[in-house]
Amino acid sequence: MRCPYCRFPDSRVVDSREVEEGQTIRRRRSCPECGKRFTTVEEATLAVIKRSGVTEPFRRDKVVSGVRRACQGRPVDDDALALLSQQVEDAVRATGAAEVDSGDVGLAILGPLRLLDEVAYLRFASVYRGFDSLADFEAEIVALRAVPPLDLPPPVPAGAAGPAR
Ligand SMILES: [Zn+2]
Repeated sequence: MRCPYCRFPDSRVVDSREVEEGQTIRRRRSCPECGKRFTTVEEATLAVIKRSGVTEPFRRDKVVSGVRRACQGRPVDDDALALLSQQVEDAVRATGAAEVDSGDVGLAILGPLRLLDEVAYLRFASVYRGFDSLADFEAEIVALRAVPPLDLPPPVPAGAAGPAR
């Protein structure tokens, strides 16, 4: 890694740490020529293929700005949006693909957004899935009412600790 101060072509790693649960590695480097230190960030690339065919790096702030529009006037704060964008990134990265369609990112947004705010979810889904009639909204609302948001096993009643022996 070239020193950004004196352009010396080599540098030494003096510290290396994982951040964001290992998705990013930050390295402190030292230049043997001028002695200055600088930081580099290493992250696996995740590319999003847009409908136009253009590829761009995945960015959580783009998820946030897309979802924020659907959340206007809703009780959803910036922390919740940041968490949602993290969940979306985790879900997309969990597929193991280095490139994903923008549609898959939209799909990954729907689940966590539904848990966050159902009105915002409906707005987002209406744009993302291209609802063009009241019937589309109606069908989505029926589906929302019919399917619980999470496929979690029913809670274990207090006192019932495991199967009887
Ligand atoms: Zn240097």
